[in-house]
Amino acid sequence: MATTVRVAINDDLPPLVWPLCCPKCGSTESLVQTTSRLGRVKSIRPNLTGGMTMKSDILHLSFPMCEKHAQETSLANLILANSPVLQLLRLICFMGALFALPFFLGPVKIIGQFGWFSLFPLLGVVGILAIVWAKRASSLRPTRFDPDMDVFEVQFSDEDYATQFRVKNVKATSSSLTEAPPWYMRSLLWKVVVILLFLGFIGKLMNH
Ligand SMILES: [Zn+2]
Repeated sequence: MATTVRVAINDDLPPLVWPLCCPKCGSTESLVQTTSRLGRVKSIRPNLTGGMTMKSDILHLSFPMCEKHAQETSLANLILANSPVLQLLRLICFMGALFALPFFLGPVKIIGQFGWFSLFPLLGVVGILAIVWAKRASSLRPTRFDPDMDVFEVQFSDEDYATQFRVKNVKATSSSLTEAPPWYMRSLLWKVVVILLFLGFIGKLMNH
């Protein structure tokens, strides 16, 4: 069972302290620093030169891990990364895997008719297997930023490690700094409400 910990990001907070053991196997020997990246797009708007300006936040988490699991975790976190490119790649994999269903159900000769296109479902299945592997292999992964506040979430596969992390970073993980705002305080909700009211208003105008 994975544990998710909410961590506040704030200039006043001391840097994060990581337990000096591998989050996967608990080993305290031959530890190396591993870095995982978490990004979010804050806004995209057209600029004066006719292009697009993208504002984003990027967070690099560097934590100790045993040599054996460091590479595995970097690769797994890359496969599961929250970036637009990887989200698109994962979507393509899911679509490919959907196309694979008829190949399993139907006669093998369909493959001959589709030619090179039959590689697409195959890649989809390989992609899905990679995602499933990554979810099991990753023992420490920054998953997402909170959309409404300066908080990000880290997922730990080991409960004890997560507890140690909380103890070492009491302030950054305290509920007073990381607690999610109640639903009526979330800006997204109010944006949706405004859009619905506006649509209702337009609808009323059109009926007259
Ligand atoms: Zn390890």
